[in-house]
Amino acid sequence: MQAVMKIAPGIGNVILSAIDIPNATPGHVIIEVAYAGICGTDLHIYHDEFRTVPPVVLGHEIAGTIVEVGTHVHDISVGMRVTTETYYQTCQQCRHCRNGRPNLCVQRKSIGSAVNGGFTRYVRVPATNIHQIPANVSDQSAALTEPLACVINAIDLSRITTGDIAVIAGPGAIGMLTLQVLVASGAKVIMLGTPADATRLSIARQLGAAHIIDVSTADVGQQIEDMTEGLGADIVIECAGAGPAAQQLLQLVRRGGRYTQIGLFGKPIAWDMDQVCYKELIVTGSNASVPHAWNRALRLLASGQVNTQAIISAVYPINQWQEAFTQFEAKQGLKILLTPLADK
Ligand SMILES: [Zn+2]
Ligand SMILES: [Zn+2]
Repeated sequence: MQAVMKIAPGIGNVILSAIDIPNATPGHVIIEVAYAGICGTDLHIYHDEFRTVPPVVLGHEIAGTIVEVGTHVHDISVGMRVTTETYYQTCQQCRHCRNGRPNLCVQRKSIGSAVNGGFTRYVRVPATNIHQIPANVSDQSAALTEPLACVINAIDLSRITTGDIAVIAGPGAIGMLTLQVLVASGAKVIMLGTPADATRLSIARQLGAAHIIDVSTADVGQQIEDMTEGLGADIVIECAGAGPAAQQLLQLVRRGGRYTQIGLFGKPIAWDMDQVCYKELIVTGSNASVPHAWNRALRLLASGQVNTQAIISAVYPINQWQEAFTQFEAKQGLKILLTPLADK
């Protein structure tokens, strides 16, 4: 089968390669991938800004169908539509694992970076990672369960409270999911973007943003003040991994407010840490997801509180992965999916 693989450390070194079909070892299942989302992490892997163990198949945002079940697997059967958590292996003994935060386990090995992932036709994962896709959620939508679970983890850590006024910078796929989780949590959301984001900002409006602001044309600080009785936003969330946005959000957050970082920069940035002191900010970040966020992500998809159709902008067969990566890197559209289905 064909697979999009990182074959060696360094910039690039991603190719379409033929590999053997995996079989289901004890405690594991084989998913036939229907769709796998391209994530910012995949671009960071391409640019060698994210740790991998090559050769490895990329892709960790997977939806598909169970086609084989290993021994010692219960309650999972062939034909079940599923998505999968991304940690192939954690130690299950360290303080983080025992505390329900396996995302922080130093021995964590994830699909798509350390173990073969989903930019191919078949992927092997631990049965304990499987979540059944609700009947009314499509395979394409279910491929967004992983980024949605990451967003839920970030928002949990940010301690959002109902009635908060939130400012999001970065109207990409993660920004759009963050917007919808915040609205579902009772916040009022203002989405910031650049002139290149005009289409994305109008989608943000459709998805529930109370206001959208093009940062190049407006006095953003004044507008946020006007919307917050002169105080500034209760919470600001950086979803783009853009240094200037991170800096601007420090000016928009109120005293005693919260700053949450979701996007990855891939390198150190200049950031005025003094503002954290002057304003007594609470700063939080997040790393991937925790298991309970997956159940809640699937509920939000099933209830329609999170709309993914407006976010999925293109589907490419995996042999066109380069076009897909190029489109994603150029910020054309939002979430782009790869599919092996055309490869039958
Ligand atoms: Zn992802
Ligand atoms: Zn551990």
